[in-house]
Amino acid sequence: MKIVNTVEELRSIIKEWRKAGETIGLVPTMGYLHEGHQSLIKKAVEENTKVVVSVFVNPIQFGPTEDLATYPRDLDRDAKLCEETGASVVFHPEPEEMYYDDFCTYVDMDGLTKGLCGKTRPTHFRGVCTVVSKLFNITTPDKAYFGQKDAQQLAVIRRMVRDLNFPLEIVGCPIIREEDGLAKSSRNTYLNPEERQAALVLHRGLAAGEELVRGGEKSVSKVTSAIREIIENEPLAKIDYVEIVSWDGLDEISEIDGEVLCAIAVYIGKTRLIDNFIV
Ligand code: AMP
Repeated sequence: MKIVNTVEELRSIIKEWRKAGETIGLVPTMGYLHEGHQSLIKKAVEENTKVVVSVFVNPIQFGPTEDLATYPRDLDRDAKLCEETGASVVFHPEPEEMYYDDFCTYVDMDGLTKGLCGKTRPTHFRGVCTVVSKLFNITTPDKAYFGQKDAQQLAVIRRMVRDLNFPLEIVGCPIIREEDGLAKSSRNTYLNPEERQAALVLHRGLAAGEELVRGGEKSVSKVTSAIREIIENEPLAKIDYVEIVSWDGLDEISEIDGEVLCAIAVYIGKTRLIDNFIV
């Protein structure tokens, strides 16, 4: 497995692969990889002859007061995990390699990016859509893999690919959890032991909400109130949002009908965690 730092080198590798008739899977990540990322890489290895994992903490998707500087990084460990899982290349560019000093072109989306995480992170999805477009253009993958853990991101990327005619398939992958139910996340490393315990309230709230929906409850407000009540009982938790929207367009709804996304964002101490279910 190779670690590649420049766009030029990755392009020349891709060119050789294309000549040889290889199929290419791309797994975009910000690194500090865990079993959640690994499940995406595994699926990509099953479905393609070559797999590129990008490890890039994308500065333009962080807001000015967010955790860009402290975001955990460990390239050696990431490279080992990628190699063991069967990836062909880790693409690890420096920010200057991805963004010229006078970079000024962005991919922006209305609609789907405005609600949920878009409310507290107004420039986040512009950063995500821009970097993912760049990675698609650099790598020209046949398939790209995204986790349902970031459900809004998955919906946004699917819509971008449709709207801008990117010639590739987006593969969504299920949420991987710790044994006690906490969704795996690089940001879980920020939690102290007390917060780690308190963070279980996300999964507990969602599990109760999902049970209500599966039991036939149709009222969005009843389900979100039940989830809120559970989370508000945890002193270390502060709700950013608890919402149920349509899964295809992330539209606000009042009645549960068809496929819906129930998504939550909760601060545990200073750490903002997200989780969701789709029914
Ligand atoms: P990140 O490094 O956090 O930007 O995540 C990179 C990709 O891994 C995204 O598509 C995430 O949705 C996915 N991912 C992160 N955590 C998990 C998880 N616990 N289960 C499944 N996919 C995940």
